[in-house]
Amino acid sequence: MRIDGSCACGTITLEGEADPADVSICHCTDCQTGTGSAFRVSVLVRGASLKMTGQPTNYLKLTADSGTPRIQAFCPGCGSPIYSTTPGDGPQDAYRVRVGILRQRREFVPKRQNWFRSALPWIDSVGAIAKNQKGG
Ligand SMILES: [Zn+2]
Ligand SMILES: [Zn+2]
Repeated sequence: MRIDGSCACGTITLEGEADPADVSICHCTDCQTGTGSAFRVSVLVRGASLKMTGQPTNYLKLTADSGTPRIQAFCPGCGSPIYSTTPGDGPQDAYRVRVGILRQRREFVPKRQNWFRSALPWIDSVGAIAKNQKGG
């Protein structure tokens, strides 16, 4: 599926081809900290299809719950998370792009929840929390 999107301030824009079958939620504590939220949602985008304007700031996360080093990229202007990928020079094979920055975000339905052992305790009952259609 074609995707396009941008960070909150517009410094970073991207487009590419995403795999709607590979959308996941991550409840790991690094994703909670890195998003400032309860979990992260990301979709697989092949590096060969990814075009980006602007230069995200990267940091190498060595102490992920999985123990796997990952590059975490975010906008230097507004802090929006952009993607994670494998460390290395030049374009990488695969990127996990953050679904919330995509214009097509409503079309990507997560297929699995990873690191559920650190999910916040109210996650399974979020549908029962009182809802306001605007603000609140
Ligand atoms: Zn930005
Ligand atoms: Zn995570």
